[in-house]
Amino acid sequence: MAKEKQPIDNSEEIFNHVTTPWLTPFYQHLQNTYQQGRFPHGLLFTGSDGIGKFKVAKQVAQYLLCTDKQDNDACFKCHSCLLMKANNHLDYYFLEAEKNKSIGIDQVRLLTEKLNERPQLGNNKVVLLKGAEQLTEAAANALLKTLEEPQGDSYLILLARTHHQLMPTLLSRLQQTHLHSPDDQTLINWLYELGYQVSDLGVLRWFQNSPLSLLNHLKALQEDASLDTRRQCVEGLFSLLYQPVNLFKFSQLLAANVEQNLLLLFHLLHDIHKLKINKNQLNNDAIYYFALPQLQQWQLQLSLKSLRLLSEEILKTRSLLTAHSSLKKELLINALLIKIKNEFKEV
Ligand SMILES: [Zn+2]
Repeated sequence: MAKEKQPIDNSEEIFNHVTTPWLTPFYQHLQNTYQQGRFPHGLLFTGSDGIGKFKVAKQVAQYLLCTDKQDNDACFKCHSCLLMKANNHLDYYFLEAEKNKSIGIDQVRLLTEKLNERPQLGNNKVVLLKGAEQLTEAAANALLKTLEEPQGDSYLILLARTHHQLMPTLLSRLQQTHLHSPDDQTLINWLYELGYQVSDLGVLRWFQNSPLSLLNHLKALQEDASLDTRRQCVEGLFSLLYQPVNLFKFSQLLAANVEQNLLLLFHLLHDIHKLKINKNQLNNDAIYYFALPQLQQWQLQLSLKSLRLLSEEILKTRSLLTAHSSLKKELLINALLIKIKNEFKEV
């Protein structure tokens, strides 16, 4: 069984070093459950990427394995805690799905074999599985078996974006908790503590369900202000309409991160749509509020029909490109940009 490499992911590494107040009540609730002897053997944490599922799962694992549990947390001093810190605990197993790959039966069998062995250090063993939606049916069945016949003090924590792709039989054996995004004020206070003063509410809406991505974004912006993708989208659309020579730059930007940037382009049209149906008004927490005067001009140039058509086209291109990495990205994106340009009318 491969041990968790460190760091698993740079962006997540940042999360390990900051407090995440919106996760604390849940973590405390789980500790209470443990102290009352009601801790479930199978747990499922769902929630969007960057909400903190992995962080809280890691905390729970450390707590379960700690041999000198304190009232509110693990002790961080015992042998077990030190091994967890070094990512080298013999009773902690981590399995992560690779991008676009399923987790097969062989990988799960290795895990279940480990779960059947006696713990090396304390009484507990923990398996953490990230990307549970990528379990094959056979692999899910194998896991199910370990949950139906728990071997002593073994705990299984599964992480997934949603529960929808998990087998109902597996789901019925897990205690599921959906982690929600903190409210704006909690987010603003949290960022303030970390040294980021946010007055642009649009950025909160953009990263609504992913405080980690928001933090990474602000961090990147602090290092290089030109990395503001929302501004680049507005500038890109501007070039497309008035300086087509620069089209290449815009299509490159969109191709660089299709999933995120085509969604941002979609939001841009969505905000234009809101202006159009809302007497040229936009809430100050709209993602593109910062570019209001420009958007007010653009809404005059687009019909509702065009906006609907283009929104569909953007999402269609996005799902095509995210599902098939072999497609010629620039070609499809250029075709999309030309469609967008053609829908704008002179005023
Ligand atoms: Zn400890």
